[in-house]
Amino acid sequence: MKLEKPRNVPEKLLLGPGPTPVESRVLRALSEPTLGHLDKNFVAIMDETRDLLRYVFQTKNELTVAMSGTGSAGMETACVNMIERGDKVIICTHGVFGTRMVDVAERCGAEVVTVSAPMGKPIDPEDVAKAIKNNPDAKVVGIVHAETSTGVLQPLDDIAKATHEAGMFVLVDAVTSLGGMEVPVDRLGLDMVYSGTQKCLACPPGLAPVTAGPRAVERIKNRKQKVQSWYLDLTMIMRYWGQERFYHHTAPVNMVYGLNEALKIIAEEGLENRWQRHRRNAEALWDGLEALGVKLLVDKEYRLPSLTSIVVPEGVDEAAVRKDLMSEYAIEIGSGLGELKGKILRVGLMGSGSNKENMVFFLAAFGNVLRKQGFAADIGGALEAVEKKLS
Ligand SMILES: *Cc1c(COP(=O)(O)O)cnc(C)c1O
Repeated sequence: MKLEKPRNVPEKLLLGPGPTPVESRVLRALSEPTLGHLDKNFVAIMDETRDLLRYVFQTKNELTVAMSGTGSAGMETACVNMIERGDKVIICTHGVFGTRMVDVAERCGAEVVTVSAPMGKPIDPEDVAKAIKNNPDAKVVGIVHAETSTGVLQPLDDIAKATHEAGMFVLVDAVTSLGGMEVPVDRLGLDMVYSGTQKCLACPPGLAPVTAGPRAVERIKNRKQKVQSWYLDLTMIMRYWGQERFYHHTAPVNMVYGLNEALKIIAEEGLENRWQRHRRNAEALWDGLEALGVKLLVDKEYRLPSLTSIVVPEGVDEAAVRKDLMSEYAIEIGSGLGELKGKILRVGLMGSGSNKENMVFFLAAFGNVLRKQGFAADIGGALEAVEKKLS
């Protein structure tokens, strides 16, 4: 065995769908001394982290925790706790993550009814209302707020309202929205919401913030069957994050320090300021890309401030674009997933990564690699458009 010394971890600019750039403050927090998971100093950090999570989720929900695992563990937590074998659930699919939610729900033994929309479009709330009407025995409606595979922002107001009027529970994937735009947990009474640390929260991957409203907690406490997953069982996890400090599994202690610091950065900036920064920079990026000469997949009204999907121009090899951006500029962006594979490129401006420097550097680099392939990218025009938008 040949060991590489020193370890080779180059700096790269992460402008894909996640993970996103991590500030050195957060990296330093990760390297602080590991404490016992029941140590009073660690417990104090957990309590503060929980308060900070309530702040970013804009909620008073008692059950607010960081699950051990990435965003997908958040999805799995929401499903295994809210669904019992044989339950009928309605899941909205307008991209890869909605489809993943269907898979997870089916593994929980759910009978799944899907409501879908074409790739690049949001779910029509009318379609959800119809599905609710046709399936009055359904228990849960699941939906992705920020569909990272397409770049679509899903409005939730009407869907949450229709779900609650039918006495059902709404379960929301906020992996790419939390920390980058409003996630209206209490405003809409969203029953179960999960996220991940590695997108707009700007922390490395490893934890999944989850919050559950009082009705969801009632439902979980009154389950007939045990939660299918021992590891993700909120009835036990809530006893560890609560006053009792009941031992369940060893918390990833240093990851909690990292999340704590990342959330403090958010609180210092102010949530509304952070949403506005994401929005303003995204709008500048869109203007820049359009001036460069490329088309965007999603109509402006439904574009995510955190992630932009670019239609690959005719005759351009998208894999070569990504390869050149990486080898020549150390910039990472994302490819299309599922049906959109080969058809779009995905650019994330999330967390501290959402700034003018990154945008200008990206547009110039992207323009250069497109020109290499014979596409007449207007780099000057793109930079002017950004300047205009941000001035
Ligand atoms: C990234 C993502 C996930 C999965 O998160 P992982 O951290 O990759 O497990 C789930 N849902 C959405 C919308 C995402 O963007």
